[in-house]
Amino acid sequence: MKKFEAVDYYNIDDLLTEDEKLVRNSVRSFVDSEVIPIIEDSYQNAEFPFEIIPKLAELGVFGMTFPEKYGCAGMNNMAYGLVNQELERGDSGLRSFLSVQSSLVMYPIFTFGSEAQKMKWLPKLATTEAIGCFGLTEPDYGSNPGGMITKAEKVDGGYILNGAKMWITNGTIADIAIVWAKLDGVVKGFIVEKEFKGFTAPEIKRKHSLRASVTSELIFEDVFVPEENLLPESKGLKSPLMCLNQARYGIAWGVTGSMLACYDSALEYAKTRLQFNKPIASYQLTQDKLVTMLTEITKTQLLNYQLAKLKDSGKVKHTQISLAKRNNVEKALEIARTSREIFGASGISSEYPIMRHANNLESVKTYEGTHEMHTLIIGQDITGFGAF
Ligand code: FAD
Repeated sequence: MKKFEAVDYYNIDDLLTEDEKLVRNSVRSFVDSEVIPIIEDSYQNAEFPFEIIPKLAELGVFGMTFPEKYGCAGMNNMAYGLVNQELERGDSGLRSFLSVQSSLVMYPIFTFGSEAQKMKWLPKLATTEAIGCFGLTEPDYGSNPGGMITKAEKVDGGYILNGAKMWITNGTIADIAIVWAKLDGVVKGFIVEKEFKGFTAPEIKRKHSLRASVTSELIFEDVFVPEENLLPESKGLKSPLMCLNQARYGIAWGVTGSMLACYDSALEYAKTRLQFNKPIASYQLTQDKLVTMLTEITKTQLLNYQLAKLKDSGKVKHTQISLAKRNNVEKALEIARTSREIFGASGISSEYPIMRHANNLESVKTYEGTHEMHTLIIGQDITGFGAF
């Protein structure tokens, strides 16, 4: 088993605490031993590698920033960011699983749930005894979720839910779905359990991206949701947007892992591939590509470090998270494409992780707010004009 050494050109490791490095290194080893050997097959077969999830849960990474009283690790956002980075070096599908479970399912229960809901669900979600999904996007409402059609109506003892969600990560394998629906015109969150009558979650097949991840539709036909499954503190569209903000933070870190994987493979390949009797790494054009990649990785690492510091001090603004998500995904895609060029034809082979990362990153650029939406969010912040 090859032990991965991530490039760290500006000695950012020196800024991390021993605990942060410990968590990072344990997930890095997990990815080396459990993910890298199997992930290409999972991707080619369009299967989520479910068998490794309980082992990952043993590392305490799910909902790791939430308190120990709910079965979580009580770690900081720096450590959580590093875990996202390590997992996405394996595959964006695995990091997506972590993001959904932690930021989009445990976070809303922790933030908008009753104490009884927290005690019931958070410990099970932390161990992955229960799997969750997050249903916001609808067939006709993606970037503009405020237009959602999914509706809840108050009835005796609970609510009746009708509508449909689209492109939902983990939908088919989830035990619970955090579903956002309008109740008297106001967006509210509901915990929908997989056994509820009238709820189905068919898988979306034949994807070209995030193939080692389950993506689904959620369909609600007169689903009765008991009163105790309403997230009582959820109030309007701001609530799901707060969840997305958590997940975007993880993405900003995660895609750095894809960058590291592509850069590391391309550098190794360039040093050993001979053309015109010399390694291609000895040509100036190749060096320019490698140096540009290294520069973008280093800038991303510094950006993530300061973003984590802001988040851990409670000072982070959602626009700062948008900037990091927007920049880092774009740069990760550029790095994947440049790596592919360095590999020549071998770049399209499943022997190397390049095309898998490149294809995955196409989804990552779109979900949790498209590149364009983040441009508009930051544009509004700096100019005062909303251009949505
Ligand atoms: P649209 O909103 O239709 O946008 C299409 C294009 O138009 C985009 O380029 C967009 O940027 C652009 N556009 C839209 N409005 C404007 C404007 N005002 N100005 C300029 N350009 C504009 N959703 C969930 O709720 N839960 C999940 O777990 C989840 N997982 C996903 C997993 C995968 C693999 C994918 C691909 C998506 C997932 N999504 C999930 C959905 C994702 O969040 C949406 O795809 C995303 O919000 C974009 O919505 P859309 O696809 O409907 O595109």
